[in-house]
Amino acid sequence: MNFQNAQFILSAARPGDFPSDGLPQVVFAGRSNVGKSSVINCLLGRRNLARVGSSPGKTAHVNYFKIDGRFYFVDLPGYGYAKVSRQEKDRWRALVGAYFADPSRVALGILVVDARHKPTEDDRLMASWFQETGRPFVVAANKTDKLSASELAPALSLIAETLELEEASLLPFSARTGTSREVLLSRINICLSK
Ligand code: GDP
Repeated sequence: MNFQNAQFILSAARPGDFPSDGLPQVVFAGRSNVGKSSVINCLLGRRNLARVGSSPGKTAHVNYFKIDGRFYFVDLPGYGYAKVSRQEKDRWRALVGAYFADPSRVALGILVVDARHKPTEDDRLMASWFQETGRPFVVAANKTDKLSASELAPALSLIAETLELEEASLLPFSARTGTSREVLLSRINICLSK
């Protein structure tokens, strides 16, 4: 699989825009600013295919990137930004809810959380949406480069406990240094070859 052969396909503002070509989808979710775009760019070996640092709170879209002509990376809109209006929150929920209405399209769910913090209530909700699909699911605890060696293990335990994860479902990650990049790519390859 050539992950570098990636192209932006479309930005879906409503469920009717979701592609329906049956290609498998690797789905990314996470709180605004957690580094989700950076994780996607890191995996693809691209500097700025997924937008980094785009203004939080802008209208929610589901972004589709086609990889090697064989599957999609799906970037769900970020959540948890305090200044978003009620109306925008409702729109987020309707859009993401519609995405999960057909779990069969999910080849692998990837939830990006911040390794330094206890997952929020929104993270728990997002994790449960993924878990309810019954599809393979991993959590990437990003920004581990900001933790010392002694801080890492307790931080990971707190995340695993809060999100009720099995050990194998949690990866210490850093989009900045590439920690666990190869591991996550191989998880993706395994899910796509099933
Ligand atoms: P998104 O809103 O979740 O897509 O987050 P972005 O990818 O835009 O990243 C938000 C901020 O976190 C940016 O300033 C990134 O440079 C920074 N960031 C992302 N990943 C990492 C990481 O692994 N380590 C560090 N130290 N910073 C990161």
